[in-house]
Amino acid sequence: MRAIVFDFFGTLTDPAAETARRTSFTATAAALGVPAAAFWTAMSTSFPERATGVHGDTRATLREMARRCGVTPADDQLLAAVRVQHAGAEQVRRPRPGALQLLDDLRRAGFRLAVLSDCSSELVEAWPRTPYATRVDATVFSWQERHRKPDPRLYATAAARLGVPAELCWFVGDGGSREHQGAHTAGMRPVLVTNAAHPHAAALRDDPDTWRPPYAIDDLTALPTVVTAANVPT
Ligand SMILES: [Mg+2]
Repeated sequence: MRAIVFDFFGTLTDPAAETARRTSFTATAAALGVPAAAFWTAMSTSFPERATGVHGDTRATLREMARRCGVTPADDQLLAAVRVQHAGAEQVRRPRPGALQLLDDLRRAGFRLAVLSDCSSELVEAWPRTPYATRVDATVFSWQERHRKPDPRLYATAAARLGVPAELCWFVGDGGSREHQGAHTAGMRPVLVTNAAHPHAAALRDDPDTWRPPYAIDDLTALPTVVTAANVPT
């Protein structure tokens, strides 16, 4: 096994940070001048669109969300809301304790690393300035690719960008989006991070897998024991 493809939210990010999402959306709603509840509904129900780039960048997306709440924000209001939305997104994606060190250690051990995320525009726009960016070799973002997990094209793209056959890639994720089934179908070797200690773990799993991966760990920091112990030639 020569590479590791990571899910992003709830895997590399701190699962506990998910609790910041509602506060973050409330702040964006205030900046946009729309009711918080209506904005939450608009954002929650539009994730499949927002994660596949249907509405464009964060500015265009927030304009559309405001429109769905019956509001047409002024340009300066929209700009302010984009800044607030980005600040909130940064809170929600804060690294899991130990995650950055883990990436450094795995790279030093010779693994090529990728992130494969179902994400909306905020992550893609901010990515180069995040602490994750210099620590991985490739990224595959649904917003850019216009497909969501478990679409096989995403896994094939990750393997291609890593320059490693899918059969030599681990896929590590906290579940949801049927991502492990997708990884298995693509030929990757899936590892489930159960986040057993996190009360919000289940909330992070939209469209959960019914298929159980062969490898499971309760916390991401246990990953080296799996990828090292099972790192036999295939
Ligand atoms: Mg996840």
